[in-house]
Amino acid sequence: MDSLRATSSNLSRLIGFPSRRATLATLALLVSPLRAQPAPPPPPRLPVVASFSILGDLVRIVGGDRIDVTTIVGANGDAHVYQPSPQDGRRLAAAKLVFVNGLGFEGWIDRLVSASKTKARIVTASRAVTPRKEGEGVDPHAWQDVANVKIYVANIRDALVEADPDGAARYKANAAEYLHALGGLDAEIVAAIDAIPRARRRVVSTHDAFGYFAARYGVEFIAPQGVSTDAEASARDIARIVDAVKTHKVAAVFLENIVDPRFAQRIAAETGAKVGGALYSDALSPPDGPAPSYVRLMRFNVKQLSEALAR
Ligand code: ZN
Repeated sequence: MDSLRATSSNLSRLIGFPSRRATLATLALLVSPLRAQPAPPPPPRLPVVASFSILGDLVRIVGGDRIDVTTIVGANGDAHVYQPSPQDGRRLAAAKLVFVNGLGFEGWIDRLVSASKTKARIVTASRAVTPRKEGEGVDPHAWQDVANVKIYVANIRDALVEADPDGAARYKANAAEYLHALGGLDAEIVAAIDAIPRARRRVVSTHDAFGYFAARYGVEFIAPQGVSTDAEASARDIARIVDAVKTHKVAAVFLENIVDPRFAQRIAAETGAKVGGALYSDALSPPDGPAPSYVRLMRFNVKQLSEALAR
């Protein structure tokens, strides 16, 4: 890679100051890597941290190759119950910007920031999003509405421009292109949900993470009371889920924590509802999974819903 860069910079010097006598043969000699001068190192990338994988994807797209993103809670990770490590503290200390979701999502972030003694600016990506109330607090899962993610992207762009003004044009161009794609994604989801008969737009899900999705796109998510979400479902949980499916005449069930396939079979047999796999709520999948980016995560969920709810 270095020799490639050196080669191309020699080449541009050659092109900039052509000798009248330069022939293809001398050109070839001059650009040979053996003769290349060491190129000046590329400008260092801006070190930034994102608190969880979905946010890391947004930051990476807006920052492009001017930044180096580290994500604290990675693919398939649960940011609600994350326990930071000393390595996370060192990453924060080295960062110029730290992007967090906010809305109470990362309960561990304030302690990590003060323990790390980082001088990084802490950027709340959800700033200016209208929060949904949830019990005493607010629902943090704002990224489940694409319109909110457009606000995240604008906040990320503005923070990067401020921290690295030399990259302003690049950040603005990257953000504009992505915002355009997000507009398309939003329209795609609206159309897909519109195609589901209205009476069937109702599912049971144990993790109450889809409130923003429900509000924007019109699918009702019912989280049965008293079902544990932080452990594998028990037989009693299954009975409660079956009750909820029957009471609410739900067409499909999406459960994250049912490992035992007999439970899924029992729900299907007792209710007639389809039992779908997990929807991706709070984290991307690994790169080889079905939801390695925010856009693919949303598309995957909508496909799962469409298939389970179609008549
Ligand atoms: Zn969550």
